[in-house]
Amino acid sequence: MTATDALPQQPRIAWQTGRVHAILDETSRVKSIILEPATWSGHWPGQHVDIRLTAEDGYQAERSYSIASPPEEKLLTLTVERVDGGEVSSYLLDELRVGDALEFRGPIGRHFIWSRTRGGPIFLVAGGTGITPLMAMLRHRRRSLAHTPASLIYSVRSLADAVYRDELDAMAQDDRDLRLVYALTREQPSNWSGHWGRVNEMLLANNSFAREHDPSIFVCGPTGFVESISSMLVKLGFDPFSIKTERFGPSGG
Ligand SMILES: Cc1cc2nc3c(=O)[nH]c(=O)nc-3n(C[C@H](O)[C@H](O)[C@H](O)COP(=O)(O)OP(=O)(O)OC[C@H]3O[C@@H](n4cnc5c(N)ncnc54)[C@H](O)[C@@H]3O)c2cc1C
Repeated sequence: MTATDALPQQPRIAWQTGRVHAILDETSRVKSIILEPATWSGHWPGQHVDIRLTAEDGYQAERSYSIASPPEEKLLTLTVERVDGGEVSSYLLDELRVGDALEFRGPIGRHFIWSRTRGGPIFLVAGGTGITPLMAMLRHRRRSLAHTPASLIYSVRSLADAVYRDELDAMAQDDRDLRLVYALTREQPSNWSGHWGRVNEMLLANNSFAREHDPSIFVCGPTGFVESISSMLVKLGFDPFSIKTERFGPSGG
């Protein structure tokens, strides 16, 4: 039985209220919100929640946020990037305080998930905060002591914009089965010997697993990023059915 087969049927997921346990600064534009759910029956790495804000006049706004924490943790971590002029992200970054109640529902998503029972190798490609669901996969891989070969290409403007950088570097340092590559699109340190510029076919070809190893591929980030990476992967000969994508474009209303 695969992990997907084992997913419980969840036709209707109820809204619930969680308590904000902590708020962490990740980068100048990104914070992680640590949420204590009232009830939680667990999630799969890669799933997300919907957050609902309600104004005093009854106006509501809903947006989706991936879960960055692994299923092994009781508290949920959501990592939110500021979208200039954004209704919900601005509230979450500027107004929300520790101890506040936050309405949310989840876990949601059955397609973009990975767990150690699925095996590997896994090839992860993140653009910006698209790292969030992939981080849940890597944290789960580490916490469950899975030795699944994994490769992450993480595209960010600069090293300072790389969310979870210290944790990722520490993970990669003592794990021979994990390869971590940053692609810095705007600013590179003067001594930078890694990739600079956008992710291209050569970078993908050099850091993926061979097609015959049949890697499970997960690509997450802004819509344009996801589409460009997916078409390069198909051009490189990877099976389109092995490529799972999550687009962080505008959501909700
Ligand atoms: C499945 C899923 C998971 C997601 N997970 C995360 C996550 O882990 N972390 C995270 O920060 N975001 C995530 N998002 C994006 C998130 O749902 C919101 O779209 C985002 O926070 C912007 O909402 P807002 O209300 O602040 O902006 P809005 O008020 O909706 O939009 C303001 C302006 O910004 C544009 N815009 C909206 N969203 C984006 C965007 N993502 N990028 C660029 N421009 C945008 C709009 O077109 C509009 O012009 C996810 C989206 C999906 C669908």
